[in-house]
Amino acid sequence: MRVYNFSAGPAMLPLAVLEEARAELTDWQGSGMSVMEVSHRGAAFVACARAAEADLRELLAVPANYRVLFLQGGATLQFAAIPLNLTAPGARVDYVNTGAWSKKAIAEARRYCTVNVAADAADSDYFGVPPEAGWRRDPAAAYLHYTPNETIGGVEFPFVPDAGDVPLIADMSSTLLSRPIEVGRFGLIYAGAQKNIGPSGLTVVIVREDLLGRARADLPPVLSYQGQAAEGSMLNTPPTFGWYLAGLVFRWLKREGGLAAMAARNRAKAELLYGYIDGSGFYSNPVQPAARSWMNVPFRLARPELEKAFAAEAAREGLANLEGHRSVGGMRASLYNAMPLAGVEALVGFMREFARRHG
Ligand SMILES: *Cc1c(COP(=O)(O)O)cnc(C)c1O
Repeated sequence: MRVYNFSAGPAMLPLAVLEEARAELTDWQGSGMSVMEVSHRGAAFVACARAAEADLRELLAVPANYRVLFLQGGATLQFAAIPLNLTAPGARVDYVNTGAWSKKAIAEARRYCTVNVAADAADSDYFGVPPEAGWRRDPAAAYLHYTPNETIGGVEFPFVPDAGDVPLIADMSSTLLSRPIEVGRFGLIYAGAQKNIGPSGLTVVIVREDLLGRARADLPPVLSYQGQAAEGSMLNTPPTFGWYLAGLVFRWLKREGGLAAMAARNRAKAELLYGYIDGSGFYSNPVQPAARSWMNVPFRLARPELEKAFAAEAAREGLANLEGHRSVGGMRASLYNAMPLAGVEALVGFMREFARRHG
């Protein structure tokens, strides 16, 4: 039985995509092999890889002067790859701290650069986004980095920062493909796949061409954006299965109406859940309304001692993985593209019933 999986990642994938992969798992395109067993340099896989890139470019309307890379190492490796590719030793960089993932990116950048935290959401206990007018940016910064969606805190930027001439860098791990974005406003976008793109083990990087060629000389070649771009992300063996599966997800997104359709659906799902929570008198979400994430909805119960029972009973009803991140506790429902509205309706129905019994 398939359940509604509310995990923040690895997260739910569209059933249609899984069924497509299953149908061709043991004999991909008449090769007599699975896609995991074919050469990444063979014509069939290269065509599959290029089609995935073309579909992603179409979905996001990626301008021609951007390169799309399909890499390994997760968003976490990008925390280091970004300063190493874009700055010289000792360079100054700006970071905005809105929560747990920002902090990890900052800690890693500090190993290679002088980091100026241009804004910190500590004032709001990380339940909001610091208004841009108060940011204290370093005029010498090589780039400005931020986390558009904090997956653990459930805090999402309601705006794209205006970085001026400085390259804007965004960790979009848990928000890429949830709605249309204007790629041209960014210098670099990166995302681990396992939230809203495909399976773990794949990382997507979208980088403006003029930022290639700024890497440090001792950078390992496999980490080099320029080197990977020159080799079509096949400087070494790429994560072939993840790339293939992401390609199936991109095709599914196109069939479903693209990112405008996703945005409408994701908004409706989020409004349903926040609306219920706010009116319930039993559940609460601490995030400032303007900064509430469409993708990750943390919530607490009026009686925290019931949280274990809540998660266990929900799981029995086919509503899986509602426990909050181990660092913050509480509950969290992640509503990525693959989560249908019916899953959120089922969750709200369960929450209502649970509150009636325990409220
Ligand atoms: C999950 C996540 C990460 C870490 O991703 P890995 O692929 O595990 O390295 C980083 N940033 C954000 C915003 C995330 O949601």
